[in-house]
Amino acid sequence: MAAVPSLDLVAGVLAGETRAIARLLTRAEAADDEGKPALEAIFRHAGRAHVIGITGVPGSGKSTLVAKLAAEIRRTDRRVGIVAIDPSSPFSGGAILGDRIRMGEVCRDPGVFVRSMATRGALGGLARGTLDAVDILDAAGYETVIIETVGVGQDEVDVARAAHTTVVVSSPGLGDDVQAIKAGILEIADIHVVAKADRSDADKTAADLKSMLALGPPSQRSGAWQPPVLKTCALSGDGIVALLEAIDAHRVALDDSGAIVARRAEINERRLLLASEEVLRRSFARQRDGHVAGLLRELNERRISPHTAAKRLLEELHRGDHA
Ligand code: GDP
Repeated sequence: MAAVPSLDLVAGVLAGETRAIARLLTRAEAADDEGKPALEAIFRHAGRAHVIGITGVPGSGKSTLVAKLAAEIRRTDRRVGIVAIDPSSPFSGGAILGDRIRMGEVCRDPGVFVRSMATRGALGGLARGTLDAVDILDAAGYETVIIETVGVGQDEVDVARAAHTTVVVSSPGLGDDVQAIKAGILEIADIHVVAKADRSDADKTAADLKSMLALGPPSQRSGAWQPPVLKTCALSGDGIVALLEAIDAHRVALDDSGAIVARRAEINERRLLLASEEVLRRSFARQRDGHVAGLLRELNERRISPHTAAKRLLEELHRGDHA
């Protein structure tokens, strides 16, 4: 029976036990039925952590920055959970190891929990597993949870949107100063970071970003908050303290303006939609030889439209689930 070990797992996670956390994270990533009762219980215990999303194009310096930021957060006595989304395909497989190496010292700190989750080309599944992973770390008592994701593709933008505070990382010298706009992530930033500030072209990148922001509409997502443009250098550590101050100030601004309520609701709405999709996909797969096959025949003969077929399928799946 899966139920008993699951509940043990919940107790272990709530007590902050590393092994239990790791095991439940694996279940969350697998997104199978076995982990569902535990995740259900965990969800009710989560909701306290400050969730920071860090995104930007590959090579912009995110992983290096996250390691420095985590170390800085530790200096304020907060524990940090990090969910690093690894865009590697099952064939390359090198990036996870790379992350661990770059995380270096923070990896050995028991107050930091780092977990890489591979996309393996299945972005939708990843988004769900990621948000469950955030809940697990949150319920386990990590006051700050960082989601590090690559800013390519809509699904990963959605992951960054699952955060209370989103940091978009740009860096000079990637051949295009408006990388952020290209990925469509400019408007989701609460804080902009130009990483690699030791490079001579960093000032120009920051200036370009500022003028681009001045052209756009003001951010609607955080009350009166205006996203600052900060420069960091992970090599020297310059700007890391200021980044954490901005992150904390953003959190205070969300709380003070009440915008946090809307943001939490927005996150839950997205999760509801994702979970609905998942429930539907699973019912669809179970009924592939049943209702789905029947409707498909009618569809192939063009007797009904896909829209009508979908509505009928939903009714039938609903009846089937309650039979
Ligand atoms: P990610 O792909 O966005 O996670 O970027 P990484 O953190 O892997 O960094 C990409 C490259 O930029 C690596 O070779 C880093 O060593 C380098 N890098 C990271 N931070 C800095 C920095 O502050 N200054 C300089 N000059 N290079 C940096």
